[in-house]
Amino acid sequence: MTSNAPRVSFEFFPPKSDAMAARLWETVERLEPMAPAFVSVTYGAGGSTRERTHDTVKRIAQETRLKPAGHLTCVSATKGDVLAVAEQYWQAGVKHIVALRGDPPAGMGAKFDVYPGGFRDAVDLVEGLRAHRPELGKCFEISVSCYPELHPESKGWDAEIAYLKAKQDAGADRAITQFFFEPEVYLRFLEKARAGGVTMPIVPGIMLQPNFRGLQRISGLCGASIPDWLADLYDGLDTDEETRDLVTANVAADLCRKLQEEGVEDFHFYTLNRAGLALSTCRLLGLKPQPAKAA
Ligand code: FAD
Repeated sequence: MTSNAPRVSFEFFPPKSDAMAARLWETVERLEPMAPAFVSVTYGAGGSTRERTHDTVKRIAQETRLKPAGHLTCVSATKGDVLAVAEQYWQAGVKHIVALRGDPPAGMGAKFDVYPGGFRDAVDLVEGLRAHRPELGKCFEISVSCYPELHPESKGWDAEIAYLKAKQDAGADRAITQFFFEPEVYLRFLEKARAGGVTMPIVPGIMLQPNFRGLQRISGLCGASIPDWLADLYDGLDTDEETRDLVTANVAADLCRKLQEEGVEDFHFYTLNRAGLALSTCRLLGLKPQPAKAA
């Protein structure tokens, strides 16, 4: 690792088929030598996705040197259901939770209804995790989400920052941002958060999505903006996967470098289970594989 290489973490999603599982495990194996601070596995609204998340997180804990974090949401589950999963994670050696309200089962943009007996939102969930068996609850590392361009349900900047501060006060250790493409978006948000009393680390979430059409679709739903220069870079590349990958890694590395110049040292990569993109971005940032430490 070069002296100014950043600390990184990687996000995966749980596989939906045997073929996708094979790709995920290849990705995990190829990224493990980059010695990420942690890796996280997302959590879907449907029951089967949940099982796959749990299985994936536990397998990473048991079969690799990586420190996995399980995403947990408040969707369609009672408090008891959610805390039972947290308990299982703890028993399996998983010590880090990414605590989220989650999207409604009908999908992003639909109205979120609190499940009967469930957690109300991410603040309620963090409080619940910390209060659950206090000797266990206080030991979990807890990450939460934040939105440098506001969440679509936001009531404005003052409410947004106060809400992030409430997550910190409830016991969150770190916030991970929604993806963004302009360094100023993150830096302005950081300034607002610090002015509002948020002192926990705010780690930029960096998107590695080479499918520009897909990126446009998600961005429209989650409120992340796509600059014209980015659309221009992908213009005409719909059928040229190789070039799109090269563009994607370079755009991500360029964003990270600009943030590093502003003192940012940690980056969380949305890998979409693609090892090559995450590896090339890390390489462009000067990260090299680390030798395995003797047990
Ligand atoms: P919250 O932070 O609880 O609330 C979302 C927004 O609503 C807030 O930002 C704020 O604008 C507003 N709000 C809510 N309550 C208040 C209040 N009391 N006062 C003021 N404003 C309020 N989704 C999944 O389904 N599975 C995943 O694994 C997953 N992983 C994610 C990881 C990261 C890093 C991020 C950024 C998002 C992830 N999401 C995931 C998406 C997330 O579930 C959605 O954005 C969802 O709509 C909100 O969840 P949240 O935890 O951010 O909610």
